[in-house]
Amino acid sequence: MKAVVIATGDELVRGVHTDTNSGLIARRLATLSIECERFVVLGDDEEALSAELLRCVQLGRLAIVSGGLGPTLDDVTRAAFARACAVPLERHAECEARLRALLEARGREYTASNARQADVPRGARVLPNERGTADGFAMQMGAALLVALPGPPRELQPMLDEQVLPLAREHLQARGIAVPVVCDAVFRLSGLPEARFADLCGDWMERGRNPLVGVTASMGVLTATLRARGADEAEAQRLLVAQVTAFVERFRSWIWTEQDEELESALARELLEKNLTVALAESCTGGMVSARLTKVPGISRVYLRGWTTYSNQAKVDELGVPPALVEAHGAVSSPVAAAMARGACDRAGTRLGLSITGIAGPDGGTPTKPVGLVWLGLCVDGVVTTHERRYLALGRDFVREFATRDGLHLLLQATKGLGVNG
Ligand code: AMP
Ligand code: MG
Repeated sequence: MKAVVIATGDELVRGVHTDTNSGLIARRLATLSIECERFVVLGDDEEALSAELLRCVQLGRLAIVSGGLGPTLDDVTRAAFARACAVPLERHAECEARLRALLEARGREYTASNARQADVPRGARVLPNERGTADGFAMQMGAALLVALPGPPRELQPMLDEQVLPLAREHLQARGIAVPVVCDAVFRLSGLPEARFADLCGDWMERGRNPLVGVTASMGVLTATLRARGADEAEAQRLLVAQVTAFVERFRSWIWTEQDEELESALARELLEKNLTVALAESCTGGMVSARLTKVPGISRVYLRGWTTYSNQAKVDELGVPPALVEAHGAVSSPVAAAMARGACDRAGTRLGLSITGIAGPDGGTPTKPVGLVWLGLCVDGVVTTHERRYLALGRDFVREFATRDGLHLLLQATKGLGVNG
């Protein structure tokens, strides 16, 4: 069975708000091996929505609509369902009681507009919304299953997981369609271009293969998803484990986490588990590494001190970089990056220290030191290494983002190589 995912709302087609619901819905449907045929984004247009729903009925699709279940006149989803299914809207007693109680608990009045939210197409199954006033509903029309969900993602997501997916599974099973169990494993990799990744994968990424390897790239980080399907959990797991073993063997040197997590989370986990302390000395990233690392709760146990030393004088005063070094090599250089990392470690008394100094642009580049040149310094137990990066000069944000990522990545690699601090 194929699905059509329909997002509604004038704000979406005017470009004021981005549709994030459809992607979420498609990802969840994939866990039932339900393929998304199309995404449709519509304004608050009853006629267009009912026409789209009618097409889904004729083709026996699973249609999931988000939005348009509010109490105002531009909320047309109920009416569009009723029209497409040729049934009247009826006030639903349980919906109404729940809505009344919810509003009363918040000290709000129950008005005629609110009452509209208790109207559902005749024959629909109500999907209660525990986090808002708009209940959803589902209609079975022959082979088709039409579902309406509220627009706010924090309301939609739990309803999708707890109610719609089980309903879709039941619908498939009742029609004699096997619902395979899907098991996923996620890896994040760095230092590997996407095309090279694909070359190394060989036929693992061929469509229709089971298990299948998929990949997305963002800011130089690859997120690889290994997906196995089986008739039951045991079969899916068996296939997945075999693929995971082969994958890790092939990509070991580029994998930095076997979870769907950010770089700072993987680094924080390593630092905390091994009780390794760290200090940061940032120039062109202006505290971006620090901001990323301090996103992680509990990091204060190991991240002891950070400096933003943007001027040359700050590098000298705060980190003890010898002025002669700055004079001789310039602030963006290997020796200065090294002195910054060592200075940060010494002054904070940490085992690890990272420094970043670079030219983010748009000005300040020279033929020998172009915009995008960044030096990173890494100090591990007093031993300093420096790392040169030459990023594309695609704007300050681009250079700074990449430098931040590489800084976190260097720390992660260093941390993985160290044992537990006794
Ligand atoms: P509605 O259910 O149409 O009243 O939508 C209420 C709110 O949910 C909107 O104002 C948006 O903030 C949010 N919303 C609706 N549709 C989407 C969507 N497709 N993706 C993300 N947010 C949405
Ligand atoms: Mg709306």
